[in-house]
Amino acid sequence: MSKNGKNSGRNIAEKLIWIREVLLDLIYPRRCPVCDRVLPFRGGLICTSCANELETVREPSCRKCGRKLFSETAEYCRDCLSVSHTFDRCISAFIYNDAMQRSIFRFKYGNRKEYAHFFVQSMARIGWREIKALHPEALIPVPLHKKRLSVRGFNQAELLASGLSKELGIPVITGLLERRKNTAPQKMLSREARRKNLKKAFQLSSCDVKLKRVIVIDDIYTTGSTLDEIAFLLKGAGVQEVYGFTLCSGISL
Ligand SMILES: [Zn+2]
Ligand SMILES: [Zn+2]
Repeated sequence: MSKNGKNSGRNIAEKLIWIREVLLDLIYPRRCPVCDRVLPFRGGLICTSCANELETVREPSCRKCGRKLFSETAEYCRDCLSVSHTFDRCISAFIYNDAMQRSIFRFKYGNRKEYAHFFVQSMARIGWREIKALHPEALIPVPLHKKRLSVRGFNQAELLASGLSKELGIPVITGLLERRKNTAPQKMLSREARRKNLKKAFQLSSCDVKLKRVIVIDDIYTTGSTLDEIAFLLKGAGVQEVYGFTLCSGISL
C-alpha cells in the first residue's frame, strides 16, 4: 500500500475510534469519580471543583514507600525506618484522603469500574517520569482471589495495570502471580496481623522468572505488607528489582 493509502487508512481508523468514543459517551455518560455526578458531554474526566479535593503526593515523601511526609527534613517515614521492606520502592499518585476513600469505595463495591479511566490517566500523568526512569520490563497487578473476583466482576489492580500498560508502553503480565488464599480484608489489621494474613497468600506459576525489574500495581498502599510478600516471591524466582505503583497511599509520620 502507498504511504498515502496507509495514512488514509489510519485516519479512518482514528475517526472510527473517535465516533465510538462519542457514542459511548452519549449512551453511558461519564461520571465524576469524586461526587459521582454525570459530567458534561466531552467535558473531561472529573469536575473542576472535585479535582481540588484530590491531593497529589508531593515532596517531601518517603524515599522507600513514597508516602507523603510531614517533616521537611526526614528522608524516610517512621515505618520504613523500623521495618526492612523487601520491595525496592513504591510510588503513589494520590493521598488516600476522604474524597479518594469515597471514590475507591464506589469503584470497587459500587459498580463504578468506569472510574479506572480517570485513575489511569492521573497515575500516568503523575508517575510516568519516575516509572520510566526505573526501566521496568513489566507491570504486574496484585491478583484477587477467584471467589472475590467472581463477586466483584473485575480486579481493580488489573484494570489499572492494563490502562497504564497502554499509556506507558510497558507490557502487563497477569498469569504469573496468583492469589491462592482468600485473605480477610486487611483494613482493620495491625502490621503483624497483615503479615500473618498474607503468608502464602500468593504463588507464582513459574519458579524461574526471566525479568529483572518489575512494577507491581495496586490501588492502595497501606503498610506495604502485600508488596513485600509479592516482592519476596518474585525475588526468590530471580527478579532483581521489585517496585510498587499505587493509585494512592496514606500519610505517614
Ligand atoms: Zn465531581
Ligand atoms: Zn516509608
